[in-house]
Amino acid sequence: MGDHRSYPLIARAGKDGYENNLQSRTFSVGSAVFGADLPTIIAGPCAVESREQTLGIAKAVKEAGADCLRGGAFKPRTSPYSFQGLGREGLEILAEARAETGLPVVTEVMDVRLVELVCEVADMLQIGSRNMQNFPLLIEVGKAGKPVLLKRGMSATIDEWLCAAEYIALSGTAEILLVERGVRCSVSRGYTRNTLDLNVIVPTREETVLPVLADPSHSTGRADLVPWVSRAAIGAGAQGLIIEVIGEDMRPEDVRCDGAQSIKPSVLREIIDTVKTPVPGTAV
Ligand code: PEP
Ligand code: MN
Repeated sequence: MGDHRSYPLIARAGKDGYENNLQSRTFSVGSAVFGADLPTIIAGPCAVESREQTLGIAKAVKEAGADCLRGGAFKPRTSPYSFQGLGREGLEILAEARAETGLPVVTEVMDVRLVELVCEVADMLQIGSRNMQNFPLLIEVGKAGKPVLLKRGMSATIDEWLCAAEYIALSGTAEILLVERGVRCSVSRGYTRNTLDLNVIVPTREETVLPVLADPSHSTGRADLVPWVSRAAIGAGAQGLIIEVIGEDMRPEDVRCDGAQSIKPSVLREIIDTVKTPVPGTAV
């Protein structure tokens, strides 16, 4: 494993009281608590596509028991011709969704020039997989002082991931969530989008006091796999999930971004009911 001296601010070693177990740094984002005993669930649309879509999904995920609302206003898309997000208008919709539901909002920031704007609305800033090693962005986000959700780069080692988190911590933000979102794996291409690296969760928790969550949506790319993989991730030590959701009456093809991997609120409710029920003897 890596060298703790590369990430002393977030390392487990040397932190009094943390060495002998997997206890995490616990912190709150609005009403959501991360790193405590029960898994924390972040849910919502991939992208904010319209006011009606986002408010509808926000209410549905709240009713299903989610702790936090996700939704991208600025989207990192592979093709420059794909929908790029509603930008500023998307942020305004997210603010309205928070006001209606009380759910704290996590949304992605991709550009150092937009950190201030995104901070006007976000309760937690998301750094996407593609930006995990965008060091100027990590520093700027760290200076902003809001909690940060840091996705693992799609081919990053634990060491690289933790060093990226250390940039944020060194810039002034201690409240960082790590999210395993699947890694590039040539043998899985064709039946899933990525490969959820279940093996990485406990070793990462052994290295750092930061909470580690999993993303069953981007790792699989398939809505039918999300309930299975959600349960597997919690079983493998994840301290929560970030899940993409579409409206109960929507079809995947009606969505401009990641419809195929988005589950319905009724399925989300089943997942939450299952993973929030502690199973005796399985706590790590
Ligand atoms: C997302 O969560 O919307 C996203 C783009 O995820 P990732 O950075 O993991 O691809
Ligand atoms: Mn997505």
